[in-house]
Amino acid sequence: MKKYYFDYAATTPLDPGIFRVMKPYFACHFGNPSNLHRFAHRSKIAISGALEKISSILNCSPQEFIFTSSATESNNTAILGVARANKAFGNRVIVTNIEHKSVLAAADILAKEGFEVIKLKVDKNGLVSPQDVTRYLNSKTILVSVIYANNEVGTVQPIAEISAAIQKIRISLNRNSDSSNRCPLFHTDATQAISYLDIDTQKLGVDLMTLSAHKIYGPKGIGGLYIRKGVKMQPLIIGGGQQNNLRSGTENVPAIVGFGEAVALAENNKKRECRRIRALRNRLEKGVFKLIHKVILNGHPQKRLPNFLNVSILDIEGEAALLYLDRKGIAVSTGSACHSQTLEPSYVISALDRPYEQIHGSLRFSLGKFTTKESVDYVLRHLPLIVKKLRQISPVNLRPGEKKICSMPEAFVGNQMPHFTRKK
Ligand code: PMP
Repeated sequence: MKKYYFDYAATTPLDPGIFRVMKPYFACHFGNPSNLHRFAHRSKIAISGALEKISSILNCSPQEFIFTSSATESNNTAILGVARANKAFGNRVIVTNIEHKSVLAAADILAKEGFEVIKLKVDKNGLVSPQDVTRYLNSKTILVSVIYANNEVGTVQPIAEISAAIQKIRISLNRNSDSSNRCPLFHTDATQAISYLDIDTQKLGVDLMTLSAHKIYGPKGIGGLYIRKGVKMQPLIIGGGQQNNLRSGTENVPAIVGFGEAVALAENNKKRECRRIRALRNRLEKGVFKLIHKVILNGHPQKRLPNFLNVSILDIEGEAALLYLDRKGIAVSTGSACHSQTLEPSYVISALDRPYEQIHGSLRFSLGKFTTKESVDYVLRHLPLIVKKLRQISPVNLRPGEKKICSMPEAFVGNQMPHFTRKK
């Protein structure tokens, strides 16, 4: 059976050209870059090459970028590392309620450590307003973190505008911090944005920015963090003092080489791929809305990554649709994760003020390099039939816009009481 991958937001296949460039650094050029001999020198040169490539695209200096194991580690480092290092200047940290879990979980730790954590609400399309951010800024605010493009619904935040608003207030806040580390500092998680949006750190006006390689046809297990010169940061991983003491541990040279190639490739293909993928996504979106009734778009209709389509299909369960699609060779994601005894609804789609039943019928299609018109049409042939089949056995019959709790909530959660009626 042919395979139709529509889950590029989860991960992407390693580009064979990138793999080719990485290969010599596994066994042939294996030196530890911290040593002084020629084996080490070869690895050091490879790291410098990757740093040059990445920093020229981020419009920063190579000293302003560190490699980590993942976007998860980069986000943890940005949130925990910056807050802890700047404790003397204040204790307020602002994030949005649709950040990736690696930001939210780190913010929860900060709250336990005594920081005041504010989780900003987004609107029904998943947008945060710069005015909302500034409303919560005070002289105790040390860090603001806003995801560049959300990983479930693809909504793109106005990062440059938020940054401009923060900078305006920054000047008026009477800070004790020195001029290069002026709080509040601004971090963005650009993991989903790299392939399609401008990642020039100067234009965006960010102080910290998270990246990951495996979303852009690079290897897994390598991420990075832009840290503007002068920003105070307490490292999470300590020991050998590699990467200017900001992230200890012998560098993963093959992965770093692959990361550098992946960022360069993404940048080269950006304009062309944006156009091609947007047209395919629009074809899919139009087809889904034409062929299936009672469908609701999750995410901003326009301010959205060109490769994202997240829809709630009423009266069906996303998981069931996912499994039926899988049987046809189509891979997608759902808005709820079946990782506990109950189906926990997605916190991102919940934050868009969608009722429980709509969240359960959500499907995320994310397109990428190998998506074609033919693969989109294949989905459009099979999805309506699957939805029809599932609706025939569905215990619910919702109307779009209806907010009431479903008539048979047990249908979603087996014989347990649904989570929204259970006492916390
Ligand atoms: N942030 C965002 C926006 C993401 O989409 C992801 C991956 N789902 C991460 C962080 C974590 O990335 P990694 O797998 O590199 O840890």
